[in-house]
Amino acid sequence: MTACHRCGRSRTSVSDLEFLAWSSERTGGTVRWLCHVCAKAHVRDIEGKLPDEYWR
Ligand SMILES: [Zn+2]
Repeated sequence: MTACHRCGRSRTSVSDLEFLAWSSERTGGTVRWLCHVCAKAHVRDIEGKLPDEYWR
């Protein structure tokens, strides 16, 4: 099941349009999703400090 790993919002609870703004992070073999709301809030963190795992 696809859900935001920050707030727990599920993919099925948002519209297709909103889902376009979701972003995924690949960590090892796992894909973590950020919803459109959390992605906006998180983008500053990403720009500020990129963890090594972000690039894998
Ligand atoms: Zn979220």
